[in-house]
Parts: sequence; structure tokens; C-alpha cells
Amino acid sequence: MVTPNNPINPPGFVGGHPASPDAAETIGPVATTVMALDATEPPVLGRAMKRRPYLKGTVVLPSDHAWTPHEGEHLLDVRDLQVEFRMREGVAHAINGVSFHLDQGETLAILGESGSGKSVTAQAIMGILDTPPGYVTGGQVFYCGTDLLTLAEKSRRRVRGAQIAMIFQDALSALNPVFTVGNQIAEMFRVHQHMNRADAEKQAISLMERVHIPAAAQRVRSYPHQFSGGMRQRIMIAMAIALNPAVLIADEPTTALDVTVQAQIMSLLQELQAERNMGLILITHDLGVVANVADRIAVMYAGRLVETAPVGPLYANPRHPYTQGLLESVPRLDTKLGEMLPAIGGLPPSLLSMPRGCPFHPRCKYAVDTCRAGGPPPLVTVGPHRLAACWQLDDPAVVAASARLATGKTSVPTTVTGGEPA
Ligand code: ADP
Ligand code: MG
Repeated sequence: MVTPNNPINPPGFVGGHPASPDAAETIGPVATTVMALDATEPPVLGRAMKRRPYLKGTVVLPSDHAWTPHEGEHLLDVRDLQVEFRMREGVAHAINGVSFHLDQGETLAILGESGSGKSVTAQAIMGILDTPPGYVTGGQVFYCGTDLLTLAEKSRRRVRGAQIAMIFQDALSALNPVFTVGNQIAEMFRVHQHMNRADAEKQAISLMERVHIPAAAQRVRSYPHQFSGGMRQRIMIAMAIALNPAVLIADEPTTALDVTVQAQIMSLLQELQAERNMGLILITHDLGVVANVADRIAVMYAGRLVETAPVGPLYANPRHPYTQGLLESVPRLDTKLGEMLPAIGGLPPSLLSMPRGCPFHPRCKYAVDTCRAGGPPPLVTVGPHRLAACWQLDDPAVVAASARLATGKTSVPTTVTGGEPA
């Protein structure tokens, strides 16, 4: 584990504890990732800095993506994260002990209904939580061995965008309508790398080409409203990958787009991830979107993880009744025309007054007394790299439902290739 108290420099790990908060700003370009738009170009490491472990509130960052985890270490390791919103009506417990990890080149899908805490989790990792009313009240977010939650805001700012970047569902409102898209992409290079205007524009054009925007050299001077929804999302992706982040969080990146464009954006994200060996967190409420893309899936319900599993086993053999319900509501190859798909009845609980017992019990057809009174069930191992949190995992009816889903064929959109980018 690499922490400020345990100053071991793994291979390829160049970082530094600046002497003062001001120094943190001046070493920004050294410690943060250096642009490598051309994947074959070796990253510039800059001067290696002495680490001063006695200084607090500073960040140790890898200068390239060759960070080598120690035994049991992950690129991103979220542990027991807790977030609450303190409001006049009471305290909303939005995240209640969420833990997951992400490695280089891996895609983790976070899946859950609206309001389950997916975006809040992402905001807590990025350090962009709406405070007040939102507060991280517990847990750790290790990035390359450093707990981001212990860092001063100045240090976190250097991680945000450069090391961990995020794209949002609504590309139109995330872009500034009064500046050209080229200007907004170039800004990343001007601010973070002090590039001159002409060079920054060249980089913007090359990034726009990289995300397959046709006629990039001309369109670099266009405004956001002159692009389609899919193209705007490509522009957001270009901005997110501009500084070559190690982690990309995509929060419902295709929800506002139609199905064909969705598939194109997904395939672009996959392509970029493979090229840059990024860790990708894909947040979605749609099981179909991630089936072909994710390596692992973490299912969230009412601010908790209820099931995590590699994607194949999760689709073939969902263990948690909530995951089973989500899968049952997806059209399958054996679904007959006009057949009604079962939806999960009821609504997620209010975060202001969570039910006693398992938070899912009011909607669960298998609930028994333990589920109502036993407290929230812990995540337990249910198979290789698989966890689930349910008091009734071994109930024959729950096991039978899992087996029933295993025999059906889930029809999920496959990645569309070819054609003009939309
Ligand atoms: P989703 O899974 O749809 O992304 P969110 O993470 O956005 O859900 O929200 C989870 C819960 O956190 C919401 O149901 C809401 O109660 C609470 N929440 C999120 N943002 C705020 C906020 N700015 N103020 C108060 N409560 C919030
Ligand atoms: Mg959300």
C-alpha cells in the first residue's frame, strides 16, 4: 500500500510531496499525467521529485500509466464510502458503505435505478459533491494508493480531469454555449499544459479526429448547438481524455441518445479505453447498455451494493432478487411478441426514512421476517469474484429464479459498427 506514511515508490511511479500548498500548483505539470495523444509517444516524466512523507494534504501521482500496484492494490479502491445529504427535512443517507475497485484497462459498470446513488458515488470520487448539503461521512477512496479524501482541495484539483476524468449524460449543458468547441477542448491544454493558442487548437483538432468527428479542422470553430447530441457527447469525451486520465467515469453517457448512437458512443469508449489502458467506470440504469462492454457489474440499491459479479456470471445466474428483477424486465430472445415483461413493483425507499431490515424487502417477493427485521444484509461471497447481499440467498425460490433466468437468452443490443458516426 502506498500511503503518505508508507513511502514506497513502485516502479514507474514518480510523485512528490510539495513543500507547501503553493508548490503543489507549480509542480502540477510534473506530477500529473503528461499528454500522450499519440499512444506510441513515450510520456515525458519530468524531473523526479523527492518524496517528503511528513507533509500532509498532498498527492502522490503516477506520471504515466505504468503504475504498478503492489499485492492487493488497485488503481482505484473505494472502501466503505458513506455520503449523506443534510437537509431541513432530515438527513438523507445516500451512500451507505459502498466498496468496489477498478484496475487499469478494466470496465466496471455501476447499475441501479434512478436515485440509487450512482452519480453521488461518482461525485464523491471526483470531489465534486454538492457541499452543503452533501458530505462524505466515512470511507476511503484510494487512487494509486493515496486516499483522495485526505487530500487538500488544491491537490485534489490536480487529480480531477488530469488523472480521473468524468463525462456526464447531458453534454449540451456541460458545454459552454458561447465558446466554440475547439476553444473548450483547447482550454484543457492551455490551462493544464500552458500551451499556446495555435498548438492547443492543433491538439483540439487531433482529439476531435480521434473521437471520429468528421471535418474536424473546419468544425473546431463551431459552437455546441451546431452539433448533434451524439457529436456533442464525442466532444465531451474528447475533453475528458485530453489529459490522458488513468480513470474515466462515464455517468449515463448515452441515456439522452438514440439506440444506434448509444452503441457508437459505447464502442468509441471501448476503443479509447483499450488504446489508453484506462480504467472505465460506466454508470447506467440500463442493463442492456453494458452487457457487451463491462468486465464486472456492481448493482446498487438505495445507496448500497447488492450484488457484484463478472458480467457473464451476473447475466447467466443473477443471485440477488433485485438483479433478477432487473434482468426479468429486459426483453429476451424467447420473449413472445406482445408479452408483458414483469417489472419490479413499488418504488425505491425514501433515503430519509429507510425501512428496517433489508432496504429492498418492501419490493421483494421472497421477503420473510428476517428481511424485515434483520438489519441490512451484508455482502457475502457467493462464487468466484462474486458478492451478494440478501438474507434469502439460499431460499429455494430465489435459487430457482436464478436458474430460470439462466435458461433464457437475454437479448441485449450488440455493438453497432460501421456507418457514419452520428
Ligand atoms: P442516481 O443513482 O440516479 O445517479 P444520485 O446519486 O444522483 O442517483 O442520487 C442519490 C440520492 O442522493 C438521491 O435520491 C437524492 O436523494 C440524493 N441527492 C443527490 N444529490 C442531492 C442534492 N444535491 N441534495 C440533496 N439530495 C441529493
Ligand atoms: Mg445519476
